[in-house]
Amino acid sequence: MRETTTNRELFEKLDNGEADVLVDMYFDFDWANQHGMRITNPYLSSNYVLVHRRGQALPRAPRVAASRSRDFTRQFVEQTYPADQISYFDTDAQCLAAVNDGRADLAFVKSVNANALLYQGLFYRLIAENNIVFTHGTCLGVSDRLDPIFVRILNKEIAHLPPEFVQSCINEETAAVNDNSPIAALLYRYPQESFLLLSFVFLLLLAGLIFFLYVRRSHLAAISRLAYTETATGLYNERWLELHLPHAIREEQEALKGGRLYLTAICVRQLTFLRATYALRLLAKSFADISRRAHETFPWFKIYAMSSDRTRLTVLCALPPGMTPKEAAAAITEDFDAVPLGDIVTRVRYHMSFLPITRERMTDISRLMGESVASLTYAKEQDLPYVIFNQDMHERFLWHQRLEELAERAFAQQEFAVWYQPKYDLKTKELVGAEALVRWQSPELGLLTPGRFIDYFEHIGIAVRLDYYMLGHVARFLEDRLRRGLPVVPISVNQSALHLSEGGYLQKMKEAAAAYHLPHGLIDLELTETAFIDFKAKEARANARQIIDELTASGYATSMDDFCTGYSSIAMLQSLPMDTMKIDRSILLAAETDRRAAAILESVIKLGNSLGMKVLTEGIETPEQESLLIRLGCTYGQGFLYAKPMPQEDFERFLASHLS
Ligand code: C2E
Ligand code: MG
Ligand code: MG
Repeated sequence: MRETTTNRELFEKLDNGEADVLVDMYFDFDWANQHGMRITNPYLSSNYVLVHRRGQALPRAPRVAASRSRDFTRQFVEQTYPADQISYFDTDAQCLAAVNDGRADLAFVKSVNANALLYQGLFYRLIAENNIVFTHGTCLGVSDRLDPIFVRILNKEIAHLPPEFVQSCINEETAAVNDNSPIAALLYRYPQESFLLLSFVFLLLLAGLIFFLYVRRSHLAAISRLAYTETATGLYNERWLELHLPHAIREEQEALKGGRLYLTAICVRQLTFLRATYALRLLAKSFADISRRAHETFPWFKIYAMSSDRTRLTVLCALPPGMTPKEAAAAITEDFDAVPLGDIVTRVRYHMSFLPITRERMTDISRLMGESVASLTYAKEQDLPYVIFNQDMHERFLWHQRLEELAERAFAQQEFAVWYQPKYDLKTKELVGAEALVRWQSPELGLLTPGRFIDYFEHIGIAVRLDYYMLGHVARFLEDRLRRGLPVVPISVNQSALHLSEGGYLQKMKEAAAAYHLPHGLIDLELTETAFIDFKAKEARANARQIIDELTASGYATSMDDFCTGYSSIAMLQSLPMDTMKIDRSILLAAETDRRAAAILESVIKLGNSLGMKVLTEGIETPEQESLLIRLGCTYGQGFLYAKPMPQEDFERFLASHLS
């Protein structure tokens, strides 16, 4: 078997003796003679059909794609069409491709080939006409070099070929062609099934996609539920509010004709008490209930959220024209004064702050929220049922922001200085000690007294750090003087109330005492009586006592600062064996003009003396105050009359002149 693609090759092979017999020869005696061949009788008749593009009418002068090597081209195409309309290709497939692409309008292809090629599905744009345009016989060509008997033998065989056999050979060959391009062929052959299958796959993909989107959505919903709600109560949290406020504000502003928008913060007024009595979870739940009901009751109570500590509610209030924050606060208080906490209905009062939403405030929502919290803090501090945010609070808020910004660096760069205020024996005028008071020498803010920042430091929890800083400086100051053989006096260091709830406070103080080698009692810790306010229960009092005992054991002296300003001073004395009672300046001032106050001051001094405490009064400014205190039995004093707080260098000079 020698395969060739063109007629020319075919004849060449026959000429040079490479082949003897041609299969698939055109049945034409003359032509065979011309090429030195004998031919057999036809064993097959080849039919040619017209192939063109589906649904397109043929032009009057169609362009014809013809197979170069076919005799049929010579016999039929070239006879039928002018040469300039014919373009030649090597194979039938190329002819069909040309028609398919529009390079030709029609092609004549052997019907068997046409069917086979179209059946593959590659030329689905084409259609083969049923009409046979041309038929010729196909025979075997035998080189005339061979014995003529051979042709006769072949003829005999051909005569015996059953037509079904010929047909089945053709069919097999057609089928063999088909297997080459499975998908296109399948689509072409089984259009309905393919369509169904594709639709099914598509639906399956679609269902998959929908399922994926659904799962994603529900995951996102779960995540945002976690991120934006307060889990215990199911209310939105402040992060959610911050996100939704801008839109809500714009919407309400449009709906609200002549009214006013406020960001309102609400908290429960007796929280410390309620917290001590009920579980926080219970409080939070009923707080959440209140907010839900308020939202239903008052049309002006718009979107709201709960703070992460569950003690504060922030609400967008759209007060209608004529309604004041005072009225809104009253409405809430009236409707929700009796609150069920578990099985018990309790009377609850509130602190509320109203922050008017102005155009310029809207640009910074997180600041808006911050200001809202700050104004609520103000209402709490001043114990007011409601406040409207004003310029003062605004400035306070800005001040606090500034403090927070600068505090960190202030620690790093040691901007806090220790100032000392001497303490005196009132009668002998002897120097008996000093109190260390912090001063912040800020490059930006100037010299600040603790009144400007200490409350806020407590509020944000860094007062504790400041106290350790002060303790360290004072201890080193004393150590240094002792090392140099200079005289010293006991120095008191203020301790924030926060220490008592700080983990490991006693341990840290013990370590500090061990680190500085100072005689016992040289450092005095000033604790305010309010620091022990939570120690009312018997067990807690024992705890407070233990704290004092351990501090004493570690080598510290202790003073009860600001005595007579708290609630339960006397009760506290019973359980707290502290060394010094520091009576607050306020009672001294009152005693000067008020006899009852003077009587109280006198009994307090007596009480302190009888308990064996050193009694000191703070803030003595005049000789009259001094003599009053001496008369009432007070031993020690501290105040501007003797000396103001002073920087360390001044205090060292002061010590030099007073202790020699
Ligand atoms: P305090 O412990 O009661 O300190 C006494 C305050 O009274 C000091 O104010 C002192 O300067 C002031 N003072 C003294 N004598 C007189 C007087 O004759 N007249 C008047 N009007 N005032 C007098 P300062 O230094 O501004 O401190 C204020 C408060 O800040 C202190 O009250 C103390 O509670 C707190 N503080 C100061 N330093 C620290 C510290 O290092 N840590 C902590 N946690 N608190 C501190
Ligand atoms: Mg003090
Ligand atoms: Mg004090």
